[in-house]
Amino acid sequence: MTESALETLYNRIDEAAESIAGDVTEWRHHLHRNPELPNREVETEQFIVDTLEGIGITDITRGIAGHGVAARISGGRGDAEGQGRCVLLRADIDALPVKEDSGEEFASEKVDQNYPGGPFPVAHACGHDTHTAMLLGAAKILHEMREDLNGEILLVFQPAEEGPPPGEDGGASLMVEEMEQSGLFEPAPTMAFGMHITPMPVGAIGYARGIQHAASETVKITITGKQVHGSTPWLGVDPMPAVGDILSNISQIYRQVDVEERFSISLGHIVDEGRFNIVGNKVEIWGTVRALRPEVMSDINERIERYVTHTAAAHGCTGSAEFLDEIPAVEHTPGWIDAILPIYRRIAGDNPVIEVPPAMGYDDMSEFTSRFGGVYGLLGGQNIAFTEDGGIEPTNGDTRGFAANHSPQFYVNDDALTYGVRLHAHVAVDHLLGSLDDSDGGDAQ
Ligand SMILES: [Zn+2]
Ligand SMILES: [Zn+2]
Repeated sequence: MTESALETLYNRIDEAAESIAGDVTEWRHHLHRNPELPNREVETEQFIVDTLEGIGITDITRGIAGHGVAARISGGRGDAEGQGRCVLLRADIDALPVKEDSGEEFASEKVDQNYPGGPFPVAHACGHDTHTAMLLGAAKILHEMREDLNGEILLVFQPAEEGPPPGEDGGASLMVEEMEQSGLFEPAPTMAFGMHITPMPVGAIGYARGIQHAASETVKITITGKQVHGSTPWLGVDPMPAVGDILSNISQIYRQVDVEERFSISLGHIVDEGRFNIVGNKVEIWGTVRALRPEVMSDINERIERYVTHTAAAHGCTGSAEFLDEIPAVEHTPGWIDAILPIYRRIAGDNPVIEVPPAMGYDDMSEFTSRFGGVYGLLGGQNIAFTEDGGIEPTNGDTRGFAANHSPQFYVNDDALTYGVRLHAHVAVDHLLGSLDDSDGGDAQ
């Protein structure tokens, strides 16, 4: 497509994004007031389906991987350009067990009484309400301009990004599996795009070349002894001393892996079966490992396993380690980043577009980008500005300043929504009809 024809489409997107800003804000506030925990996104799913239907989209599949929704917009121009291309646009839709203290008038007051391990207060403390509303906004714009597009747009509203409750399956890996089985990847996406709202200035866009989000896994360690009355420990085998030694031994792994490697190991949850007068039979230790490189993750796993089995044996117990919920890193080829940077600069305008270091937090968007290629953007949404010395300061008369994702104080300025709507729609148009593609054609290393 010629530059000027593309310009016309960009302008139409930008004007439409301005004109629907009120709707997108209302959708976001509704979702924000009604957050739902991973794998329980019942009303959220219904809201997404109702809104897509209200937009006029008819090709909708619901109930994927629990409460996921996929919808398709087909370009109707009919000539050869862009045929065979399919852009997957993804938003995650779940909330977190956090008691909101954002100061917003639309703050959540919800409590989930029935969630496993609950009751829990629930809040959109990671901003997935904004992701959902922004993708719905882009869906409306792209649906309305479909006769001027070619190729396919696959909208993916993904549940359980924050991880399903223990014992349940869910999230992006299950969504990919179910979409594959039901033929929703025919035609196969030729790129995947999504974004995460972050504590950066409103309208700023961040990206990493190479790894942007670390790989993650859950560790479950089980130490088994022999249950006995607390007054006669010599008649049983106490698993608790082994647990204590394992917790301290595992910290030695930080001295055994090259200091240049970035990784973290946190064991944050212990479940024991004992009582003040009972030496319990078994103790479980749950934690998470994050690493930028898969080789480092496997090396750490071997070391954890060795400490667990041998430390348990030294105390006369048996020990085992399982590694669950493995999520790959979000990794960008230089080609994708070079190709998307002009879009980032166009959308950000006068706001900064900055390269960021890899984050140790994961995002299961990697299940889509590692399969189809593409990019995961970081969009700023808070009332802050970067200072000359590399710090940040509050702006817009808002004293809240920086507030991290997952904290009770996390907030997003509604002004960020239009940037996100435009970003999705520009990426779709540029992949279907412009030059947005992996310019190296190479695999991530
Ligand atoms: Zn999160
Ligand atoms: Zn998130």
